Amino acid sequence: MSNEYKTIHEFDFNLICEYFSNVERQGPGSPEVTVRALGFIDGLTPQSRIADLGCGTGGQTMTLAQRAPGQVTGLDLFPDFIRIFNRNARALGLSDRVKGIVGSMDDLPFGKESLDLIWSEGAIYNIGFERGLKEWRDYLKTGGYIAVSECSWFTAERPAEIHDFWMAHYPEIDTIPNKVARMQDAGYVPVATFVLPENCWTEHFFFPCVRIQDAFLQKHAGSRTAEEFIAGQRREMESYRKYKEFYGYAFYIGKKI
Ligand code: SAM
Repeated sequence: MSNEYKTIHEFDFNLICEYFSNVERQGPGSPEVTVRALGFIDGLTPQSRIADLGCGTGGQTMTLAQRAPGQVTGLDLFPDFIRIFNRNARALGLSDRVKGIVGSMDDLPFGKESLDLIWSEGAIYNIGFERGLKEWRDYLKTGGYIAVSECSWFTAERPAEIHDFWMAHYPEIDTIPNKVARMQDAGYVPVATFVLPENCWTEHFFFPCVRIQDAFLQKHAGSRTAEEFIAGQRREMESYRKYKEFYGYAFYIGKKI
């Protein structure tokens, strides 16, 4: 589930949720990258409150919770993802301090200045990078951290085909220095930024998706929605293969001042 599906309303939500419920991650990332980003966060204690916004089925949330102390709340719009999230938390023995809740990232159910850390991998685009950074800041304590991964340009210029694709689907995509500047403008000290390695897209996202695509098409034989959806997924994979030196995900970590 990546930025191409910002226009997700054109498809059948249930079908898409069913598809992504069968993979551990719903976007690019990896346990190594989650741990690396967490390495930039200081001062967490068992009393800390952490929120993972747009958590999906919680692949990264479980990694986070296994490495960081504190209470962790995963929030996602889709009840099916949250059901799987809570099942995974139980299976890992984490359910006393890790809970998934259904909610929307543009209407957070947390108290103002109540969180020590806001996490969001591959999901802030749903509200927009700038808007998310600004609105979510209110929920962080002073000195609290935000860590988000976001699709970004790696170069100042790029071929028209990939430029136009992203302008049509997520015009807020920008270069890493510009994203860091937006983070600073939003009231954070930019603490660290790093580019996600290619295996976050391939080994941890595309390959598990490829493994379920044929079975998914067979199950929904004759469904145009399913066919169009899988065709879109395959286009996205091909586009990444062709243009991966021009774009990808970067992690942005900031501290509220
Ligand atoms: N963080 C997960 C990961 O990296 O595997 C999921 C990333 S997926 C690309 C984006 C997630 O954002 C999906 O799980 C989707 O359901 C969720 N989402 C979309 N709009 C949302 C909203 N308004 N509030 C909360 N979650 C939302």
